[in-house]
Amino acid sequence: MAIQGECPKCGKRVLHVNIENLVGVVDGTSKARCLSFSCIHCNTVLGVQMDQRAKPRPRARPEPPAT
Ligand SMILES: [Zn+2]
Repeated sequence: MAIQGECPKCGKRVLHVNIENLVGVVDGTSKARCLSFSCIHCNTVLGVQMDQRAKPRPRARPEPPAT
């Protein structure tokens, strides 16, 4: 089946996507690993989703307050 999806910005067909690891932030706190999918031609982000494979980070010591 031919790929029909087009990038909304540059109009090229999305045959490949750049996948990047992001961190989902809730109320300023890193909560979850996420993945973004971006056009390889113009880097427009096409979508972001939770990384289902990632395990939650182990509970670490609270980070020292930034000074
Ligand atoms: Zn594009």
